[in-house]
Amino acid sequence: MKTCSRCGNSVGLEDKYCSSCGISIAPQENIVSAPIRTQKIGDIRFNLGMIYFNMGEFDDAIETFETVLNEDPGNRKASEMCEQAREKLAALSRREN
Ligand SMILES: [Zn+2]
Repeated sequence: MKTCSRCGNSVGLEDKYCSSCGISIAPQENIVSAPIRTQKIGDIRFNLGMIYFNMGEFDDAIETFETVLNEDPGNRKASEMCEQAREKLAALSRREN
C-alpha cells in the first residue's frame, strides 16, 4: 500500500487513481494528462462547492470555490458562485448582529 500525496488516502500499488480525491498516482502520465485531469477535478470540486452552497454551508462553499479558482483562475462559474456564497455569508452575519 502507498498513500495519496494529496489527500493521504491509502491506495493499492496497482491503482492508477486515488479512490478518494481522484488524482492520478501513476507518476509517468502526470505531465501529459495534467490539464485535462485538473479540469475534471475542478468540475468535481465545483459540484462539491454547489452542495455546500445548497446546504447553506457558505464558508465551506467559498473555500471549495477558491480551491477551484486557485487551480483554474479563469473558471467563471466558480468565480460567480464564490461571489454569491460571500454575499450569502455576509447577509447571514448581518442578520446575526
Ligand atoms: Zn487522494
